[in-house]
Amino acid sequence: MANVPVCPVCGERGVPILYGLPTPVAREAAAAGRVRLFGCVIPPEPDNWTCAQNHTWQADDDQVLSAAIDAALHRE
Ligand SMILES: [Zn+2]
Repeated sequence: MANVPVCPVCGERGVPILYGLPTPVAREAAAAGRVRLFGCVIPPEPDNWTCAQNHTWQADDDQVLSAAIDAALHRE
């Protein structure tokens, strides 16, 4: 996975956050630690990344975010 951001607080690798009802594929990706599921309640200014230490932050590049989500769900 290219260009995955690191946590601005601790420097751990970012994991994309998925909102909404997870599909079976999303559940599987979450079980493997490739994405994090944050449920159906989407905050007004949702964070898009989280890390191993549960910090969250907003994406500054939506293309990087969607590429990371695609890669996580397609096991690239
Ligand atoms: Zn962190």
